[in-house]
Amino acid sequence: MAYTSKRGRRPSEYASKSSHSYIINDPEVAGFLANCDYPKKSEEINFDRAPIYEVKELTNNPIKNIIAVDAGRTPVPVKKEFPSSILTFYQFGALYFSMDDLDSLYVKPFIEPSEISKLKEIQRFKFILPTKNIRVNGADTLTHSVRRAIYDFFMNNPQGDKKFMESYKWLLFEEFHTPADIWKLASCPNCEAKEIQLLKNDMATNYTFECPHCHEKIYLTDTFRLHEIIDDEIGASGVVGYLGNVFEQLVLVHLIWVIMHIKPALLKEVLFIKDGPLAFFGQTANIHQPMKALVSHLIENQNIFIAGLEKSGAFVEHADEIAPKMAPNTAIILNNDYIYRYIIPGSPNATDPYGSTTYYGRKIIYKADDERVYVISLPTKNISANPQVDDFPNLDIILQNIKKLKSDMYDSALIPVSLANKLVSLANHPSSVILEKFAKKSMNTH
Ligand SMILES: [Zn+2]
Repeated sequence: MAYTSKRGRRPSEYASKSSHSYIINDPEVAGFLANCDYPKKSEEINFDRAPIYEVKELTNNPIKNIIAVDAGRTPVPVKKEFPSSILTFYQFGALYFSMDDLDSLYVKPFIEPSEISKLKEIQRFKFILPTKNIRVNGADTLTHSVRRAIYDFFMNNPQGDKKFMESYKWLLFEEFHTPADIWKLASCPNCEAKEIQLLKNDMATNYTFECPHCHEKIYLTDTFRLHEIIDDEIGASGVVGYLGNVFEQLVLVHLIWVIMHIKPALLKEVLFIKDGPLAFFGQTANIHQPMKALVSHLIENQNIFIAGLEKSGAFVEHADEIAPKMAPNTAIILNNDYIYRYIIPGSPNATDPYGSTTYYGRKIIYKADDERVYVISLPTKNISANPQVDDFPNLDIILQNIKKLKSDMYDSALIPVSLANKLVSLANHPSSVILEKFAKKSMNTH
């Protein structure tokens, strides 16, 4: 998670230089490399290929509060002897703080630990994913154990009358506008029949459906499609990352849903910050569609401020590369041509907008007047291959507030995100033994 490790040193590319040069000099490899395309160096980049936006000062900042959403996870071996059994512990949630508190922190060179308490936790959640060689609560297989664990979590959290399951149903069937009455599930988790139509009207009060082929139960949370990539023998490690991303975004959805039901006007003064891009990946990708519908609906009807901040990956490496060439207070609006020509080798003429099957926003690279550079995805009403400034509502407001979050103390990380990471991080906590004991007590390993 650490931003510093990315910036502080180069990848271990020189580790075995001699063997690399041996391979690179091989005629077949050299011939292959001659036909390859790579991310570009800054001198090869022409900024005219993407719109550049000059960020304006705010005369009036509507943002009063910031909510940062984050998830952390750690694998825990429960049974070390062969064959090993593994669980994954997730902690995730949201931090909330006011801009006034942030402004008072901002003027100080260092932040005292006691002042961190000004950042208020909304709620934190824990989830245990059976990951390898485990069955839970009498489920037949690992796949069904995972399905059941996720379903139970969504049915039982948060405590109180507003559950994740309810806000997820609201998202999936797009109840915020003209509701959709059907969701197409790629495959039944029980009989593997394809293209199952889940009709909202057929959903039981416990958020389950009956498969029309095998008549077994399908949970609403099976729409994450994680069952498709769990192997009962090899394990569920392939779903670990996707699930973390789902948790983060469903906390975001849940908060939006709660605010819309309690005090919709609040959406006009809250900036939501998510760690990572505004997208759903892998098996969960289809959920980007209702999410896209939700942000479009909010942009049109009341406004929404969301930013997904990237800390690593090809876009961040590219942003570091071009940072010296960018003027302060500007943002590059990334389009297909720019992305596929300079960042991700691909065809600049591709007609499908970059990330059209995963993203519910578009990306920009922003250089603040303090020289710091950010890769940010922001919601747009439409997903276009060639987005323009007008496609990004609230650009000045979001960027000026992101700039305020800066803290030297945490290097390039933003205050809330780095603190959220700290709070949710279990990896360095001396509690893995306790977790193991807890896990052993509550699970049936075999
Ligand atoms: Zn079935």
